[in-house]
Amino acid sequence: MSPRRRVWCRGCRRELTDPISRMRGWGEECDPDPRRRSPRFTVDQDAIPGL
Ligand SMILES: [Zn+2]
Repeated sequence: MSPRRRVWCRGCRRELTDPISRMRGWGEECDPDPRRRSPRFTVDQDAIPGL
């Protein structure tokens, strides 16, 4: 009855429910292209030494 095609993750074969995952064909956890910055994304700010 669902008008939508069912889509499964190419990685883990789980059914994808969210639109972005379905569009990409990858589940969020398997997506080779990370969509959001990792929480570890903490680059050292270049502390400009006070001149
Ligand atoms: Zn997956």
